[in-house]
Amino acid sequence: MGLTLESPVRFVPHIGPVMATRLANLDIFTVRDLLYHVPFRYDDFSLVCPIVRVRPGETVTINATIQSIKNIFTKTGKKIQEAKVSDESGTLTVIWFNQTYLVKMLHTGDSVHLSGPIGWFGNKIVMTSPQYEVITGTGSVSLHTGRLVPVYPETEGVSSKWLRTRIAFLLETILGSMQEFLPEQTLSGYHLMGLSDALRAVHFPENKEAIERGRHRIAFDEVFLLQLTAYEQKRIWEQTQHANALTIPKDDVFSFIESLPFTLTGDQKRTLDEICADLARPIPMNRILVGDVGSGKTVIAALAMYIAERNGLQAALMAPTQILAEQHFKTIQALLEPRGIRVDLMTGNTKTITKKVKPTVIVGTHALLTKSLTFPNLGLVVIDEQHRFGVAQRAQLTGKNKADTTPHFLTMTATPIPRTIAKTLLGNTDLSVLSQMPMGRRIIKTWVVPAAKRADAYQWMQKQMDESGGQVFIICPLIEESETLTDVKAVTQEFGRIKKLFPKIGVGLLHGRLKPTEKTTVLENFRRKKTMILVATPVVEVGIDIPNATMMVVEGADRFGLGQLHQLRGRVGRGNLQSYCLLFTQNPDEKALSRLKALETIHSGPLLADVDLRLRGPGEVFGTRQHGMPHFKIASFTDMETISNTQTALEGLTRDDPKLVQYPLLRELVKTAIIETVSKD
Ligand code: ADP
Ligand code: MG
Repeated sequence: MGLTLESPVRFVPHIGPVMATRLANLDIFTVRDLLYHVPFRYDDFSLVCPIVRVRPGETVTINATIQSIKNIFTKTGKKIQEAKVSDESGTLTVIWFNQTYLVKMLHTGDSVHLSGPIGWFGNKIVMTSPQYEVITGTGSVSLHTGRLVPVYPETEGVSSKWLRTRIAFLLETILGSMQEFLPEQTLSGYHLMGLSDALRAVHFPENKEAIERGRHRIAFDEVFLLQLTAYEQKRIWEQTQHANALTIPKDDVFSFIESLPFTLTGDQKRTLDEICADLARPIPMNRILVGDVGSGKTVIAALAMYIAERNGLQAALMAPTQILAEQHFKTIQALLEPRGIRVDLMTGNTKTITKKVKPTVIVGTHALLTKSLTFPNLGLVVIDEQHRFGVAQRAQLTGKNKADTTPHFLTMTATPIPRTIAKTLLGNTDLSVLSQMPMGRRIIKTWVVPAAKRADAYQWMQKQMDESGGQVFIICPLIEESETLTDVKAVTQEFGRIKKLFPKIGVGLLHGRLKPTEKTTVLENFRRKKTMILVATPVVEVGIDIPNATMMVVEGADRFGLGQLHQLRGRVGRGNLQSYCLLFTQNPDEKALSRLKALETIHSGPLLADVDLRLRGPGEVFGTRQHGMPHFKIASFTDMETISNTQTALEGLTRDDPKLVQYPLLRELVKTAIIETVSKD
């Protein structure tokens, strides 16, 4: 019949175009999708019992013969289906409600399996609304009764009962031809069920233990294949891409570090070593530098750019917003110009750079991608907060390099990355983490403020401003995923409200729809303390450095991820003053409150990310920003144990056989996966 795993489901017997359309609502398109449509629970109908022994309160399966079945229409308009069934031991009444068609499906004399709860109906012991299965011949297998029965995610016109028959059919016809792709050593090393046994156990388990073992195997596959894909992408990148191997000018780097007004933290030193090792290789660096706001990423980026420049190459730093680009420009310029290096700025606002300029070190926004700029000698690209750049744009920047090399890439992000995500999704990238904060930075006192305490909080803010002179950010949540006019309206309303609340104080308003020059003015006014309060959308999340800001107030805090709130909080506490973060919420839900309360006690970005991942799942934590977030059917990003095991297994296999020559099936699977990932971008 020629069904393969990749065949469209409409070619499966009894699935035509109509059912195929319905299945599409469950994201089931191919035979493989259907086979991997896993139950979300199992009804335990495994207790088969003679009629004489059934007791009210139990859920049982009986094997019986139908003596009679009829519809009863009660005076109150109810429709009851009543059957009398019997086995060798006795007779039992069975009732259903509102399923008048049953009298056409079940007939006197039929042998049936019935699974359902036993209870009282009036003064009679009955079985209520059981699952039924007509037994057609000897040796036919029960799918719906007398066993652990799978219950699937359903959709309009697709019932679990129907899914059971189609999946059972697939298991019978296609499982035999499915090849085990995990090597023997992995199966035995991690006590895994074979592939076909696992699929069978997941759908039609013999017992509860089989469910666990089957699901464990499928979860293992999901994580393992993801990691293998990342591994292979990295291997291909390293084989096909060439970069300039840089010479590390040790003396220059040393004197640069000496000239800083502080000493580098241990994490910064280690990160710098990692970056230097990468830059010295003829393979382009592909490294992410993760660190809380204020952990000192920029100086590391500046050092890397300095090294590129010393090698006679160009270095570019690309930031997601103009504000951030300008800020980086100032920082990088202050660090590099004293060493005789010219730094240029290129944003949508800049008119000064023309075609003739061949910048050495340049900082900018998307504007860096415009055609008028050329980078014949691009050696290093630093990207701040990469998730705001698409993969395509990154490729575009790479393409600007005329030489036959790929620049080294360094991505900086303050978005904490949970360890499990780093080990799976980011396996193709190297990671450096700055978890130490530079000395002398104080903990930002954080309070969740429920609706009832709001007025007190405003009074307290007023007092703080009067006494310490510290300034305030008030952040409004985005209503839509990216800033829209509705959001601008909301933040503008809040601005009006705050002005009324604090009539004697200058209040500023900042949102993404302002013109670049307006933004700069608003920020300058805040920086110069002409305004004391700045009401803003989360645009400030990415990098405004105002040392005198000591209070971060977040409206609708429950709408933010913990990591994001932590990033916002990092906008204060940059100077010497004690700083505070107030999380306003109108949401009285206990769970929402206790999630926010994590911020009161936890002050580490990575820990908060782990908490958020556990409470909300990866989709929510990373949102739509993250490209290619895979959807696991069974595995979970919070399952550290499986994720570590799969990683160890992969390392074991690739250590002696990096190209997986001995495992052609694995290679084939990964090839498909890589093509899929690429086409999704
Ligand atoms: P990030 O980009 O990670 O948010 P920055 O690089 O902007 O952090 O650093 C924040 C501030 O801390 C800057 O003013 C920077 O000069 C300072 N800084 C960086 N490293 C150190 C350090 N090791 N010790 C003290 N201050 C530091
Ligand atoms: Mg920064």
